[in-house]
Order: sequence, then C-alpha cells, then structure tokens
Amino acid sequence: MPARPPGRGAVGVTAAKCPICQRPTVPEFRPFCSGRCADVDLHRWLTGHYAVPGDEDAEGRAEPGDDD
Ligand SMILES: [Zn+2]
Repeated sequence: MPARPPGRGAVGVTAAKCPICQRPTVPEFRPFCSGRCADVDLHRWLTGHYAVPGDEDAEGRAEPGDDD
C-alpha cells in the first residue's frame, strides 16, 4: 500500500498523532494512541509537568485565609 498524503482520501480520522509518543492516534483513545498515553498525559497535567515557561512564580503559591 503506497503512502498517500494526509488530509485527502483518509479513511476515518487518524491523521492526528499521539502527543505523547507521536504514533498514529486511535479513535477510541484519541487524541492519543492508547489508554496508556492518555493516562500519561493526564498524569503530566496532574503533576504540573505542563507548566508554562516563565510562569514559575506560580509554584508553591500560598493562598491566605487557610482557616479551616
Ligand atoms: Zn501514544
């Protein structure tokens, strides 16, 4: 099967690539290629690995009024 340019003649929506491992995405797990990569992405978000460059000042911010 010859490689064809993306965007045209594509069967289904598999043109995107997994942002984690750059593999072709799977509709079931899009925009990732698998549930594992989806979990990795989620974990990155939860752990703050997606911190915006230059926004390190937000790290360890203490909010006043911690009167629980
Ligand atoms: Zn992946």
